Amino acid sequence: MRGSDGSNSSSKDDGDDRHGSISSSGGSNDSRGSSLSSSSNSYGSKGADVGSKKEGRRVKAGTRTNASMVDGDGERMIGSGRSRRHSISRIKRLVRQLLIELGEDPDREGLVDTPERVAEMYAEIFSGYTMDSELDVTFTEESDVVVAREIQFYSMCEHHILPFFGKVHIAYIPDGKVFGISKLVRLVEKYAKRLQIQERMTKQIADELEDKVKGVLVVVEGDHMCMRMRGVKNNSRILTIAYRGEFENRELREQILALLRDNSTRMYGI
Ligand SMILES: [Zn+2]
Repeated sequence: MRGSDGSNSSSKDDGDDRHGSISSSGGSNDSRGSSLSSSSNSYGSKGADVGSKKEGRRVKAGTRTNASMVDGDGERMIGSGRSRRHSISRIKRLVRQLLIELGEDPDREGLVDTPERVAEMYAEIFSGYTMDSELDVTFTEESDVVVAREIQFYSMCEHHILPFFGKVHIAYIPDGKVFGISKLVRLVEKYAKRLQIQERMTKQIADELEDKVKGVLVVVEGDHMCMRMRGVKNNSRILTIAYRGEFENRELREQILALLRDNSTRMYGI
């Protein structure tokens, strides 16, 4: 059911079950951290003392950047290479056809430019497929734990092609080098700006950082439009966590989770 790559072929309308469930890919003895998914807004950690030795030292809010792709001939493309290359004009035709199938008149005033607008928008919101996170650009700096908090993301659920969005928090233990905040924002966008499920996005961000740091912890809080607008309407937020390396140490992990949880409450004003 759960795709391990972009080729999830499930056509069943089961998005709610997946989003609302609590899942775990392994116990704490795994060599790699398990990724947990929960529909509650709690990190499940038992109030570890944040004030102790490994407290995060750098907490910055993320900013958003935009990017669109241009191929060699100057034609804007969505995706990259292989079978992923769809031209704007092709998507335009498909969106026009979709409007007709929905029972609309694609030539009426309000809709006449919609196919082009949608195609242009897709070039931007699906630009992650061809994005380079540029994580090789680093600064030398001594630090125990770096926490980049509240990196905003917007992604599209691959089951319904509806938006899900929220915040990504990345904590990592540098291996002599630290990443500029813009590189972490870019890393998030690389995996957010494509058809996604939140669980996979969380793991992909952790995976890409794993071999560049001593430990990484990624927490994603997402709001899913496919849960709000359709089916059993459910406004709960999805929380996913992935950790690697030194964050397999439960105590260290819980310190950071407690730090994020405290700030999260304020973040959402609840
Ligand atoms: Zn969905």
